[in-house]
Amino acid sequence: MSSASEGAGDAGVMLHPELRADRDEAPKAPNGQRLDHAEGASKPLRVRSEKQPRGARIHGNRPVDQAEAAARFIAAPEHEKMHDERLWDLRQKRDREMHGIPEWEELRTLASSIKEHTLVHLDEYLDQFEANARANGIHVHWAKDAAEHNHIIHRVLADHGAKSLIKSKSMLTEECGFRHYMAAVGIEVIETDLGERIQQLDNEDPSHVVVPAVHKLRTDVAEVFAKTIGTDPDNSDVHYLAEAQRQSNRPLILAADAGMTGCNFAVAETGTFVVCTNEGNADLSANVPKLHIASIGIEKMIPRLEHLAVFVRLLSRSALGSPITQYTSHFRGPREGGEMHIVLVDNGRSARLGMPEFWTSLKCIRCGACMNTCPVYRRSGGLSYGATYSGPIGLIIDPTFNAHKYSNLPFASTLNGSCSNVCPVKINIHEQILAWRRELVKQHEVSFVKKAAMKAAGELLSRPAAYRAAIATADVALAHLPRFVIYNGLNAWGDHREIPHPPKHTFHSWYHANRGAK
Ligand code: SF4
Repeated sequence: MSSASEGAGDAGVMLHPELRADRDEAPKAPNGQRLDHAEGASKPLRVRSEKQPRGARIHGNRPVDQAEAAARFIAAPEHEKMHDERLWDLRQKRDREMHGIPEWEELRTLASSIKEHTLVHLDEYLDQFEANARANGIHVHWAKDAAEHNHIIHRVLADHGAKSLIKSKSMLTEECGFRHYMAAVGIEVIETDLGERIQQLDNEDPSHVVVPAVHKLRTDVAEVFAKTIGTDPDNSDVHYLAEAQRQSNRPLILAADAGMTGCNFAVAETGTFVVCTNEGNADLSANVPKLHIASIGIEKMIPRLEHLAVFVRLLSRSALGSPITQYTSHFRGPREGGEMHIVLVDNGRSARLGMPEFWTSLKCIRCGACMNTCPVYRRSGGLSYGATYSGPIGLIIDPTFNAHKYSNLPFASTLNGSCSNVCPVKINIHEQILAWRRELVKQHEVSFVKKAAMKAAGELLSRPAAYRAAIATADVALAHLPRFVIYNGLNAWGDHREIPHPPKHTFHSWYHANRGAK
């Protein structure tokens, strides 16, 4: 009988030997290979008790019902609690980092002005970037939309006879439906970011721009891996799961014909670009195969290399509350014997640049801080938005792609302004969300019931006497009406919450009684 200590001796140093069951074998991958970094073998760390709630149901071009998907997420309390706490933890870490930088607000202002300046002169900086990138030996392509982006990359891969592609995480490729396109033309895409790979294996989109599988419990991941790479479904030890995935993905990475990355910042004066990751996976995608393709949204430009420092200081602190990403990789040109291609993608960005109320959303550096702080996002999960971009920034970007389909999204916000406060490039997010609501009313994309309710609320709130009378009546009604009259299908708000007991006095009545005469 192998004991825990014998097993640990075989596997090297075990960080938490107490997690191993008495009869456990040393941890092994499905192919029998040892998993040297894994800590547990088959002892379930927690019995699976709750199914993962799935995202919004998409029905063609019909408006996505975010509220319905959010209700399903809230109805899964383990998921909701974990998601809320995990993201709030990131927000708190971000705050700690922010307090460690006395010039934080100056950095935000600087980042905002650099981005605004670049966007105002975007045509010039794009030309400069292209000329310098070509001079560095890079092939530069331009794609006006998602279809052109996918065709261009397919053509490059076909020219090289490439049948498999390793890829680091890129929201732009999600926007372009790239993986689906590649599957249709018979090219295998392998995600190299762990969270993104989990989502790929589960056939789900990323739910967050930085932590794509943040909505999943580790038991959910154990289930996905058991089905797809043959791990033990009862072992949800994170080290075991990560190592098993590593063993399964590594041969695919080493054998891939081509590699692909996104881009965090493209520097016009040098024609170079920078990719920030914490797993080093972009470096694998860029350096293992000889062919490297990078998809770059045109808003990723910054004028000069010296500007990069401003964004690098802000990005990881805002995203994860860490001083810097583990890898900040600069790509300048093809390596010896290799080839590098860049696809500069518009896909609606020029149109957004022409929208007076929404153009500054192009400053976004995709740090995810607005999502981590948003009470709606934290409690409803990113997949409830049914769109590429979720959370507060998604409420602005998604309707620019399709105002009808995403017409419900700008209403999934409390407009508390926390998103704008944490945004490292000072986008006035909550004001733009409000502007979208006005715009959707103008475009007749708001339902009759919602419009009528808002109109009635507006009338009431603009008449103080009527408002006070209504509040007094409501307080009496809440105190005396039977429960079924208050909590029924017409009260969506009360589906998930108890209405607080009405206070004896309203602020107005207290003020009138205590201070009114003074
Ligand atoms: S809008 Fe601001 S906070 Fe939100 S992801 Fe973009 S840069 Fe980060």
